Amino acid sequence: MSLRKHMIVKPGTKARLAQRDPDITPGFKDKESSIKQLEKNTARLAELQYLLYAENRRAVLVIFQALDAGGKDGTIRHVMSGLNPQGCRVTSFKVPSAEESRHDFLWRIHKAVPQSGELGIFNRSHYEDVLVVRVHRIVPKEVWSRRYEEINAFEKQLTENRVTILKFFLHISKEEQKKRFEERLSDPTKNWKLSEADFEERKFWDDYQAAYEDALSRCSTPWAPWHVIPADHKWFRNAAVSHILVEALEELDMKFPAPSIEVSRIRIH
Ligand code: AMP
Ligand code: MG
Repeated sequence: MSLRKHMIVKPGTKARLAQRDPDITPGFKDKESSIKQLEKNTARLAELQYLLYAENRRAVLVIFQALDAGGKDGTIRHVMSGLNPQGCRVTSFKVPSAEESRHDFLWRIHKAVPQSGELGIFNRSHYEDVLVVRVHRIVPKEVWSRRYEEINAFEKQLTENRVTILKFFLHISKEEQKKRFEERLSDPTKNWKLSEADFEERKFWDDYQAAYEDALSRCSTPWAPWHVIPADHKWFRNAAVSHILVEALEELDMKFPAPSIEVSRIRIH
C-alpha cells in the first residue's frame, strides 16, 4: 500500500485520531535512510515545481495544520528547501487583523491562494476558524458549525479552477509536545518560539483533539483530502510529507508546453 493511502483520511469516514499512533514510522526504518529519502524527494520536488511553473496551467496548494510545536515550521523548512522561491509562496495565518475580521473568514484565505504555475504553502489556514475559534468560543456554535460545509464548497470551487489541494495534519503526542516545549525553554536560540499562549493552549489539548477530529473527518473530501502524518519523529514526518507531495505532483502528469517557436529551424548567428 502506498504511504499516501496509509495516511489519508478516507472521505466519508472518521479520522479516528485517538487510534492513530503519532510515534509510528511506516515504510521508513531509521533516521539515516529517511534523510537520504528526503534528499531524493526534495530534488524531485524541485523538478516538479519547475514543470508546474513552465506548464503554467494549474496551481498547487499545500496546507499544514498542527498543534503548537507540531512541526509546521520545520516541515516547511526541510521539505521545501529545494524549491525555487520564484514560483513559491508561503503564507502564515495569525490572529485575524482588524480589517480581516470585518470580512468573512475565507476572504484572507482566498487572497493568498496561489496563482497558476505557483506552489502555495499555508502555515495554518481557514481551518483555524473551526479549531481555535471553536475551542475558545470566539464565535457561537451556529456560526462555526456551518463552516465545514462552507470550507468544502470553497475547496471544491478552487479545485474546479485548477488548484490542487493537499492537506497535512502533523499529529504529535501530548508527551512529545511537552518535550519540544522543554527543548525550546532550554535552548536560548529557541526561547523566542515560546509564548505564554503555548502553555495556556496545552490545557485545551483534549478540546483541540476533538475539534481536529471533526475538522479532519468532515473536510477530508475526494477533491481535497486530509493526510494525518505521525509526527513525533521529525525525520519520519519530513520523509513522509515529501514522499506524498512527490507522489501527488507526479499524478498530475504535467507536461512542458509546446515551444512557441519552431526550434529546429532556428539558427543563431
Ligand atoms: P503562530 O503560528 O505560533 O505564529 O501563532 C499564530 C496564532 O494565531 C495561533 O495561536 C493561532 O491559533 C492564531 N490564529 C490563526 N488563525 C486564527 C483565527 N482565524 N482566529 C483566531 N486565531 C487565529
Ligand atoms: Mg506558536
